[in-house]
Amino acid sequence: MCGIVGYIGYREATPILLTGLKRLEYRGYDSAGLALLEDLPRAVTSNGTETALVTGTRLVIQKCRGKVTELEELSALTPIHSTVGIGHTRWATHGAPSDINSHPHTDQNERLAIIHNGIIENYGQIRDRLAARGHTFRSETDTEVLAHLIGEFYSEERSLTEAVRLALNEVVGAYGIAVVAADDPNEIVCARKGSPLVIGVGNDNEYFVASDAAAIIAHTRQVIYLSDNEMATVSRSGIKTRTISNIEITKNIEVLDMELEAIEKSGFDHFMLKEIHEQPRTITDAMRGRVIEEEGDIVLGGLQNQLRDLRRAKRLILTACGTSFHAGLIGKYMIEQYARIPVEIEYASEFRYRNPIVGDDDVMFGISQSGETADTLAAMREGKRKGARALGIVNVVGSTIARESDGGVYIHAGPEIGVASTKAFTSQLTVLSLLTIMLGRMRHLSVVDGRAMIRELLLIPEKVQRILDDSEQQVKEIAEIFKDATNFLYLGRGYNYPVALEGALKLKEISYIHAEGYPAAEMKHGPIALIDENMPVVIIAPHDEVYEKVLSNIQEVRARKGHVIAIASEGDEKIKELAEQVIYIPRTMSLFTPMLSVVPLQLLSYYMACARGCNVDQPRNLAKSVTVE
Ligand code: GLU
Repeated sequence: MCGIVGYIGYREATPILLTGLKRLEYRGYDSAGLALLEDLPRAVTSNGTETALVTGTRLVIQKCRGKVTELEELSALTPIHSTVGIGHTRWATHGAPSDINSHPHTDQNERLAIIHNGIIENYGQIRDRLAARGHTFRSETDTEVLAHLIGEFYSEERSLTEAVRLALNEVVGAYGIAVVAADDPNEIVCARKGSPLVIGVGNDNEYFVASDAAAIIAHTRQVIYLSDNEMATVSRSGIKTRTISNIEITKNIEVLDMELEAIEKSGFDHFMLKEIHEQPRTITDAMRGRVIEEEGDIVLGGLQNQLRDLRRAKRLILTACGTSFHAGLIGKYMIEQYARIPVEIEYASEFRYRNPIVGDDDVMFGISQSGETADTLAAMREGKRKGARALGIVNVVGSTIARESDGGVYIHAGPEIGVASTKAFTSQLTVLSLLTIMLGRMRHLSVVDGRAMIRELLLIPEKVQRILDDSEQQVKEIAEIFKDATNFLYLGRGYNYPVALEGALKLKEISYIHAEGYPAAEMKHGPIALIDENMPVVIIAPHDEVYEKVLSNIQEVRARKGHVIAIASEGDEKIKELAEQVIYIPRTMSLFTPMLSVVPLQLLSYYMACARGCNVDQPRNLAKSVTVE
């Protein structure tokens, strides 16, 4: 999820790695580190007549929690002469940000070092197996387990490349990795699956490895992109590429013709758009290692000690602010329908001050992207004080909410840079869906139903991808038509009522158009007075239990000359006769529709903001993490 840089050549590696890491800082990270292969000073031994030169290589690790400048200071204290090394910025997923959890990680015998982006799903099993063979682990990370596993395969008879390859064959999960070893000082082995990796071909036999071309563009524009399940051994004399199933492959060198700024945003104009497009992957990441399809069940590691309380809970209280509140509202609908537990959802700012009734039978979930939202934190403390279990659903590992809660679930969306939250919302919904299935299976949900829900959930990422592929251009055109509107109404029912709130919030946040979200049926009780030929109305109308009712609402808007933009299920021809614009989304179970229906609304707010010339990534007056009440 975060940054990788590697260098092999003839120049000093440290400054190249540190500047590369600085180029990746825009992504957000919590710690940084280097592994360098140091050319040992040539020891001269003399027996009187002969002089022998002793040379060798030592693996040196320098790493710390905090910023790259702190790593720079640390590294300046002990300068290392090295022309081969790897560097990492970590965005913690397993184990809080700390010096010890920072990458690189070494194997049991500290002969090799690895940096890793991503998540090793089956690290728990591998760790147990290796522990039984006498391995001791220094950190809490999934990455260190992979380091030890590679170390198990690495021997005098087996090359580093082969050891990495064999280890990767045992790994389930996502990774971009780079590995160095003192016994093989003339190479860097790297591999990817689900997490990007690019190799830069420099002049004069020097090569670079990076998770994102921004880190190496200052040195070369000639690059080789690894695809999933491919690995490379990079040495001063060239690059050897193969698949992890050991088939040799030839890769083409491509020439980058993007500017640095465009590379940082992976070619997208804004972080927000990049993050909207990341959703198929981030939704998958939120499910990684948590789904047991056969048993129709879910395992959430951070809740394993809370299962008893969750089973006995008389009520769940979800508390959050902004976009996370909307996710919580959908969570309430899901959990009540499938797990049959009463759920309350409340704005954290209200909960903390209104003397709520909370007790031992309640389990609270605070939902926050940053894990630092002041109101959510205070609400959780208040709940805890009154006897409730307080659990977190957060993105940032080791954040205050994560630390102060009794347990919780990370959403693993990766750093979200755009101020308007997009991928964190769909990842929160993914986690709430997992929670729903898990709680349901503890109570009334059968294995067959659990399995059916899981199968459908697993299809969501590719359905989100389809929406991005099929409707982006259309949404852009719709934004052009309505860019001068001064008001917008968003309507939805059931699971899509909170999506209406979220769509309206996104529009307000970045295009500064006044927008209201309403339960569709509430329109008659007031907002209908606003509808005239100047009012665009976004109506979320997928084919679900309340579809016919929503159609009536569309008629009501039409009758007052409002412009209807409908979000409808693929194949719905009827709606075309009623709505001026129809954006189609794939069909799915009702509870999962928000993960799909919100995507065109995110795009709509994005393109509206662009059409109006607004600063999409830093909207006025807003902060990414609201740490004040
Ligand atoms: N899962 C790894 C960790 O928590 C890698 C995190 C990253 O991608 O930066 O250390």
